[in-house]
Amino acid sequence: MSEHVKALIIGSGPAGYTAGIYLSRAELKPLLIEGIQPGGQLTITNEVENFPGYPDGSTGPVIMEDIRQQALRVGTEMRAATVTKVDFSSRPFHCQLDNGTEIIADTVVVATGANARWLGMPSEQKYRGYGVSTCATCDGNFFRKKTTVVIGGGDTALEDALYLSTLCNKVYIVHRRDEFRGTKSLQTQVLKAENIEVLWDTVPVDIMGEQQGFIKKVTGLQVRNVKTNEEQTIAVDGVFEAIGVTPASELFKGQLELNEQGYIVTTPGNGHTSVEGVFAAGDVQDPHYRQAIVAAASGAIAGIEASRFLMEHPL
Ligand code: NAP
Repeated sequence: MSEHVKALIIGSGPAGYTAGIYLSRAELKPLLIEGIQPGGQLTITNEVENFPGYPDGSTGPVIMEDIRQQALRVGTEMRAATVTKVDFSSRPFHCQLDNGTEIIADTVVVATGANARWLGMPSEQKYRGYGVSTCATCDGNFFRKKTTVVIGGGDTALEDALYLSTLCNKVYIVHRRDEFRGTKSLQTQVLKAENIEVLWDTVPVDIMGEQQGFIKKVTGLQVRNVKTNEEQTIAVDGVFEAIGVTPASELFKGQLELNEQGYIVTTPGNGHTSVEGVFAAGDVQDPHYRQAIVAAASGAIAGIEASRFLMEHPL
């Protein structure tokens, strides 16, 4: 089965939904493919204080549902599906969905975002889902009154540690340098928290655990101080990795120009990709800011550019 649309949006974070709002208001009836994590990375965060329009702060899931409802109200069609293959070699563009439908689109906005990175420690995959996670919001609840460790020193690590400190008896932060990268106000809160201990200049080496039959559990994290080379194992029940993200651009390899880190290359300020008529917005093309509000703004830009492109290049 195939469907023809004027504008297809791939991805459902702040960038995708905002592109939907703009393309809907241009009366282009956009179709938005929501993917496996509708709402994107913000749905796995807790408190959000820096998205404008929420004077008392809010949470990621609430903000994303608000933007989604706004996009729906103005006419964006949402589809619970995943794009499995794209062919951008000629217009109209062809995109295959996992449910077998082929979407033929006059213009495409790519807003697939980014995914959490894994460290690649020897035992990481063995204990993944059994005490090793990249999502404190999703899995923190399993560690009530227990001890956990967060790896990293960016905003995600600091937010995760603060969130976990409300649930756990004790939270370690293992950070490879002697200063954090994350926002100052988060640093202040972390350093004030009585049950958070920071291990500076320290890198994780491996995850320790126990297995009895199918039951596996984490018992510790082996770490090394990079200045003294001393190793120790800290006793923990849960390990949360917060070491940054990788752009979700695998689908576009060979179709769009990507940079060395896998980000889609766009013309600064207008979201044009290497293929005329395909635009990109949000974290999949932003190695610098990676903020929800910046993603939303780039979604607006991509939506406006795609509307203009359709006016100038009708099919
Ligand atoms: P990030 O800013 O890239 O920080 C990653 C952290 O992990 C850094 O501290 C880094 O250390 C450390 N790290 C990276 N690779 C490592 C490795 N192999 N071994 C040990 N440590 C490693 O990533 P993020 O915290 O996920 O944030 C991503 C983006 O989202 C940022 O732009 C951030 O501002 C944004 N964000 C914003 C908010 C908010 O505004 N509320 C919340 C979450 C995220 P170094 O510092 O030494 O490089």
